Amino acid sequence: MSGPRYHRTRRQDQRLVGFECQACGFVSFPDEKRICKRCGDAPAEFRDVDLASSGTIKTFVVQEYLPDDIEVPQPLAIIDIPQADGSGEPTRVYGLLTETELDEISVGCTVDVRFRELFDEGARPINSFKFSVPREDKR
Ligand SMILES: [Zn+2]
Repeated sequence: MSGPRYHRTRRQDQRLVGFECQACGFVSFPDEKRICKRCGDAPAEFRDVDLASSGTIKTFVVQEYLPDDIEVPQPLAIIDIPQADGSGEPTRVYGLLTETELDEISVGCTVDVRFRELFDEGARPINSFKFSVPREDKR
């Protein structure tokens, strides 16, 4: 692992950074790819772009049948997160919805992006992002 790569990954922990393909505008998240997934440009030239801290649900599923040690129901959504400055294209991500009642979830609703510890793997927890329907009384 090179130094710069490490620092870039660390930066993503602090705020949401996407990678915009300079050939076609596709925004890669969370990783910068060597080859653009959409236009196939290789090696693709990406520019860091700040992402907004909330996005819009495009579609979702609710998982009901999971192993005993995983809480159900577990909603999963495909979410478009726009760029912070409103320019360019949003990035599309797939993620868990937490702290959210099922009847609060609908296509088109706004969700906040939150960093969470996903799995506790002993001394090295795995961190990722999750999404929640914003609630006034929680702020
Ligand atoms: Zn591209």
